[in-house]
Amino acid sequence: MNEYQRICLAHYHEIGLKGHNRATFERRLQKNLEALLVGFPVVTIHRIAGRLCVFLREGTSWEVAKACAQVIGKVPGVARVSCGYKCDRDLDVMCEVARIALGEAGDFTTFKVAARRNHTDFATGSMDMNQIVGASLCEAFPDKIVRMKHPDVTVGVEVVQNATYIYAYSERGVGGLPVGSSGRVVCLLSSGIDSPVALWKMARRGAVCIGVHFSGRPQTSDTSEYLVDEIGHVLEKTGCIARIYTVAFGDIQREIALAVPPALRVIIYRRVMFRVAQEIARCEGALALVTGESLGQVASQTLDNLCCTNDAVDLMVLRPLIGSDKLDIISDAEALGSFAISSQDAPDCCTLFMPRNPETHAKLVDVYAAEEGLPLDQWVCELAQAAEVKDYACPAYKPKKH
Ligand code: ATP
Ligand code: MG
Repeated sequence: MNEYQRICLAHYHEIGLKGHNRATFERRLQKNLEALLVGFPVVTIHRIAGRLCVFLREGTSWEVAKACAQVIGKVPGVARVSCGYKCDRDLDVMCEVARIALGEAGDFTTFKVAARRNHTDFATGSMDMNQIVGASLCEAFPDKIVRMKHPDVTVGVEVVQNATYIYAYSERGVGGLPVGSSGRVVCLLSSGIDSPVALWKMARRGAVCIGVHFSGRPQTSDTSEYLVDEIGHVLEKTGCIARIYTVAFGDIQREIALAVPPALRVIIYRRVMFRVAQEIARCEGALALVTGESLGQVASQTLDNLCCTNDAVDLMVLRPLIGSDKLDIISDAEALGSFAISSQDAPDCCTLFMPRNPETHAKLVDVYAAEEGLPLDQWVCELAQAAEVKDYACPAYKPKKH
């Protein structure tokens, strides 16, 4: 253990974050990090020279600092995260700290020093710092090679007004924008592979996401509800989900199944689901619905059928995975941590009363004819009102006042 204060630095992209936007963005990211890092020994979080610096308590171990950095890197808005130290603006001290930091960087063969001086009241310029710190590191790590282009590790040395920040361990973050900087959306969330990824993509663009899950209860077990709740817990670790509404859809689904031609059942279930989600969006002040649909993936996702479900609502429907291949979606789900949960079998409303030959090219006239006489408005209203809600840790979410 050494005497220097450990820090994690969250770097973000500065492009597109000019003027007023930038301050709002930084404040939002800072609040999100403060709330999401409650389990870590964080003293405070400050903005320093275009980065957010997380100060860790004295005596924090390398393992804890690294675990903290790994959480930070998964928070939307963070493009890169580094682990290092704060120290005095003294070249001898800076060389010593750089040696400690590089010693913690893991396996590497090549490195370089990248010094920045944010205040010219420090006499040594960045080129000279690169050389002084670089020479000291070459002495301490004689078998390592200095490389200017694409080194394995870059030792960052940032001199600011009254301190220096030095780091070597660094990881790519998820990028995007902080949750809470792009408004609110309602996501149709099944326990399948696709919709959690779709939701996460919207959260990564800064949207506060509210899930709506339709279970087959009471016609099926509530297994899908447990799986969706587990997915909620995965998403909340990085502040990506605010709440999940669960709608017990089984009985109404049964009524639909009895009343409409089998080939159109799925489309009509989905039109009702969209309308219930739209009701919830209205109550939540959300401006769009989000689904995990991907063009042509299953019968309900042909262009004709997407048009027929879209027609049921006025709200904009966003489909972040529409052009994605299943294998890409699976690798995103693995990175997110939802894949193992989604791979478990659960009957949900979509597996209930499935027809043998669903229509792949439905026409709206036929859909309208099938819906005639059904008490749709009443069903939608009842289902939305009976939805059960569960909250997750989302620092950017405040319930709308009614
Ligand atoms: P997923 O992997 O997300 O379940 P899928 O490939 O199974 O999708 P569909 O069953 O056609 O495809 O569902 C398409 C989209 O409709 C889902 O991505 C999701 O947004 C929504 N959806 C499907 N079933 C449900 C459900 N039970 N509750 C809430 N939304 C659902
Ligand atoms: Mg599904």
